[in-house]
Amino acid sequence: MKIGVIGGGASGMAAAITAARYGADVTILEQNERVGKKILATGNGKCNFSNLHLSDTCYHSGDPDRIGAILRQFGTEDTLEFFHGLGLMTRERNGGLYPACEQASAVLDVLRFALERHQVTVMTGSRVIQIRAKTKTGTGREKRGFVVQVQKEGGQSLCSFDKIILACGSSAGLKNPDEENGMKLAGGFGLRRIPFFPALVQLRCQESFFRAMAGVRCQAGVTVKAGGQTWEETGELQLTDYGISGIPVLQLSRHASVALHHQKTLSAVLDFLPQLNEEEWRVMLLARRKKLGFETMEQFWIGTVHKKIIGVILKINCISPHEIARNVTIEKLLSVGKMLKQFPVTINGVNPSAQAQVCGGGVRLTEVTDSLEARRQKGLYLTGELLDVDGRCGGYNLQWAWTTGVLAGKAAAETI
Ligand SMILES: Cc1cc2nc3c(=O)[nH]c(=O)nc-3n(C[C@H](O)[C@H](O)[C@H](O)COP(=O)(O)OP(=O)(O)OC[C@H]3O[C@@H](n4cnc5c(N)ncnc54)[C@H](O)[C@@H]3O)c2cc1C
Repeated sequence: MKIGVIGGGASGMAAAITAARYGADVTILEQNERVGKKILATGNGKCNFSNLHLSDTCYHSGDPDRIGAILRQFGTEDTLEFFHGLGLMTRERNGGLYPACEQASAVLDVLRFALERHQVTVMTGSRVIQIRAKTKTGTGREKRGFVVQVQKEGGQSLCSFDKIILACGSSAGLKNPDEENGMKLAGGFGLRRIPFFPALVQLRCQESFFRAMAGVRCQAGVTVKAGGQTWEETGELQLTDYGISGIPVLQLSRHASVALHHQKTLSAVLDFLPQLNEEEWRVMLLARRKKLGFETMEQFWIGTVHKKIIGVILKINCISPHEIARNVTIEKLLSVGKMLKQFPVTINGVNPSAQAQVCGGGVRLTEVTDSLEARRQKGLYLTGELLDVDGRCGGYNLQWAWTTGVLAGKAAAETI
């Protein structure tokens, strides 16, 4: 059984190792100069490769009811067993799983060594530009397998395989979006697809004051509102010169992407004091005024939230930082206090896929069986982000890559 794996990313490598373990002769065709480049950037270089709290509710898809049946066949425990079997020591933090050394390169290294051990042929700098299913011969006998057209630096060549595993990923993180051609390759077999869109990505805001707050990182609540719907997350918020970023923002960004696509008006409210409720904060603020009324506005807020945020809020409320606190009316002081709990911003865009960790969209899940074989094309399997599934931050996307890679690799090698 000769299997060609198109794409040497997370799901492609998992598929190749598994297929080789089941006795197949496996070749990976990877367009980059090395395999698994994206893995090195995951989890801020630490690679959050899975999560103990795996559930199909951590994922989005146009066909969400199909996810559970696939995940249940290869979940977190299986992933741990897979990596421990490759020699990787792991550690857990708040449910997230990482290599014990917290170096993403360790995950890539154990995968690369396993490819070598299982004698998987790795052809880098090899971009697949076309896949054709072999058709009937002149005598009418059914021919099985695929012919793959590969573009390399020196020109083009053809390779022949019995089975194909399409593991091309999405356009997330690609500097040049034209690099993404997995959707086109899948489209060649008539598979139905949803165009990719950025799903874990930073949000762009309209207000010019973001330039004055750039670089601030703080715990915050973020609520995104669109067309009567609201979504909330809390965590480390990052303020940038163009808008907002950080885990809570990434988690909400998919909803923003979809709402913007439907041309809905989008806004967000930032809560810079998520540890206090409104009333607790009001009482605290009034007590603070009594105690520190002699201070300037600049001094009065020290230690509440980052001073860049205070600077912007004072400016919006037309209060001079040199104003003495007791000379500011209670109403005005409470208005500043309220803004620290409910800071309104207008979202006018999301960053492009190049800056996204993950894309929504892809080949519809209804196009594949539970073992990831294309329903319309026997012998063709699809894995990872190329499928219309995107997960929350927290290791769920790599888990999807391992799950689909291992299942496709096994099914491709086992079935004739
Ligand atoms: C900055 C960043 C941080 C992330 N952090 C995390 C994290 O901590 N945890 C988590 O779970 N997920 C994380 N992700 C998401 C995760 O990396 C992806 O979901 C996962 O890598 C998808 O695996 P894949 O195999 O589907 O695609 P990829 O890993 O993207 O692999 C696809 C491969 O196919 C190759 N390819 C494409 N087309 C062709 C072609 N025509 N011919 C030959 N080769 C081709 C590409 O060059 C690429 O190597 C992160 C992503 C980014 C960008």
